[in-house]
Amino acid sequence: MKTEHCLFCDIVARTQPAQIVHETDQMIAFKDIRPKAPVHLLIIPKIHIATLNDILPEHQSLIGEMFLVTKILAKQFGISETGYRTVFNCNRDAGQEVYHIHLHLLGGRQLFWPPG
Ligand code: AMP
Ligand code: ZN
Repeated sequence: MKTEHCLFCDIVARTQPAQIVHETDQMIAFKDIRPKAPVHLLIIPKIHIATLNDILPEHQSLIGEMFLVTKILAKQFGISETGYRTVFNCNRDAGQEVYHIHLHLLGGRQLFWPPG
């Protein structure tokens, strides 16, 4: 459901500042404000979808495009060959803070596995 105060909807609307690095008709990507790695970008759909639990069959191409954008950004930010991780956090146990789906793109250092 669309909430009154969705931070990422505000970033899409440009009423909240962000360092936007890529935009398509369906999505934007911007730098995470508290980066957990030298490269930490968030790829988000322009439409509000609260969690991965809320995706529908009609969102299939949108979710696919998020990964295509990720691939382009990984190359652009120089981590496509060294490696990177993509993460969707869903709900409390995964530590989801912002309830507008976003794909984390992390790289530029050795990433630990398994994540905490
Ligand atoms: P998650 O825990 O998966 O919900 O991730 C939310 C991410 O959004 C965190 O990594 C935050 O650092 C990031 N974040 C929160 N507010 C902003 C903002 N205004 N601009 C950019 N990134 C943000
Ligand atoms: Zn939203």
